[in-house]
Amino acid sequence: MILILFGPPGAGKGTQAQRIEKAHGLVQLSTGDMLRAAVAAGTEMGKLAKSKMDAGALVSDDIVIGIINDRIQEDDCKDGFILDGFPRTVAQAEALDAMLSNQSLKLDAVIEMKVDDAALVERIAGRYTCAGCNEGYHDTNLKPEVEGVCDNCGSTEFKRRPDDNAETVGKRLKEYYAQTAPVLPYYADKGVLQSVDGMAAIDEVTSQIANILAV
Ligand code: ADP
Ligand code: ADP
Ligand code: ZN
Repeated sequence: MILILFGPPGAGKGTQAQRIEKAHGLVQLSTGDMLRAAVAAGTEMGKLAKSKMDAGALVSDDIVIGIINDRIQEDDCKDGFILDGFPRTVAQAEALDAMLSNQSLKLDAVIEMKVDDAALVERIAGRYTCAGCNEGYHDTNLKPEVEGVCDNCGSTEFKRRPDDNAETVGKRLKEYYAQTAPVLPYYADKGVLQSVDGMAAIDEVTSQIANILAV
């Protein structure tokens, strides 16, 4: 199964992708995570991406298309994958179609997660992740069972993203509405677009997605 989780920054794409990965055995492909890994590794690509990411702007289509093109050919993607944060422009969506048809693969569903701007800002402000395994948490909405200890791997180290600050969030939301939201009609025209109420509680969103995947 090939799935796209689509929505603005902070909508809950990564949270739900981690759950689908565990429940359905599909690998989560987050372009944001891949770019952050390139930044941390100090590669040429990471250097190019860093200034854009810090400013809340999109990284160039060529870079992210190249990353996804390479990644979906790896062995762990052969039973399917969940795209989280890609595509983010119509050009990326068109490139994805070409990649999939080259490999005789078919996109099963695009799931749009609808969330109000005020909730997005609150979610991004409280977001943090485990430094050991990348499990996602939130200061009030999703705390570890034991304070300060990751449920998934037991690590006591956590991190916050440098771009998760009030100033950059406004820029990222503008980019979403200007460049990413226009991808929605592209998929609606293809008949693959579905949506869930991303304002609902995390478990409720998980079950809405499970219902879509069960059909
Ligand atoms: P995205 O990957 O779309 O940017 P995340 O999955 O990282 O979003 O979620 C952003 C933050 O909001 C995280 O801290 C997460 O724990 C929290 N969150 C995710 N889904 C919900 C939800 N349905 N209700 C409340 N908080 C949520
Ligand atoms: P969020 O879901 O909170 O917006 P991501 O981790 O998906 O965060 O993305 C973080 C940043 O990485 C984006 O603001 C952008 O600079 C860059 N990025 C991630 N995916 C893409 C993409 N598909 N196209 C262009 N830039 C991207
Ligand atoms: Zn962990």
